[in-house]
Amino acid sequence: MGFIPISIDEYIKRHLKNNPSEDEQDLRKRLEIALADYKNGVKCSCGNEIWVIGSASVGNACFTCITGESSPDEDYEIDQAVKKRKIIPGRRHIDDMDPSEIAGIFDDDGYEINMDLIKKPSLCLTCMKDGDPREEILCNLNRFDQENDPEFICHAYQKREPGTLS
Ligand SMILES: [Zn+2]
Repeated sequence: MGFIPISIDEYIKRHLKNNPSEDEQDLRKRLEIALADYKNGVKCSCGNEIWVIGSASVGNACFTCITGESSPDEDYEIDQAVKKRKIIPGRRHIDDMDPSEIAGIFDDDGYEINMDLIKKPSLCLTCMKDGDPREEILCNLNRFDQENDPEFICHAYQKREPGTLS
C-alpha cells in the first residue's frame, strides 16, 4: 500500500514508453511545476496534499480526487514528494530503523506510534482495564485510531466496580 517513489527522470522514461506521443519537455515542465507547488504547500481543494504525478496531467489535486480511489496502491509518486512526510520530527519510519530496534507499534503508514503522546479519554479512567499492562497496547491502539474522532468509543470497556479502585 502507498505510493511507490520514483525519480522524475525514471517516471518520464516509463511514461514516454507507454505514451510515445507525449512531449518529453512538456511533461518534465508540468511535473516540475506540480512538484514545486507540492513543496510550497499547495493543497488539493479538499485539503489533502497534492499528488504530483496526477497533478502534472490534470491540474493540482490529491490522489483521491483525481482517481476516485481512497488510497494509492502500487501507484507512482515523485520521490521528492514522498520523502517529505518522513522528516516529521520525532517520528521514525519502520523502513529507516534497524530491525533490532523495531519493538513498538506502527501506524498504517509505517510510522512508530509514541504511546506517551496518546491522549487518554476520560472514559478510560473509570475502566477496570486502565493500568493493566496486558491491556495497554490494545487500549492505546484503540485510542490512537480514534484520536481525531469527536467521541471515543470502546467495545472493551468494563466499568470499574465501586470500591475496587487500584
Ligand atoms: Zn482532494
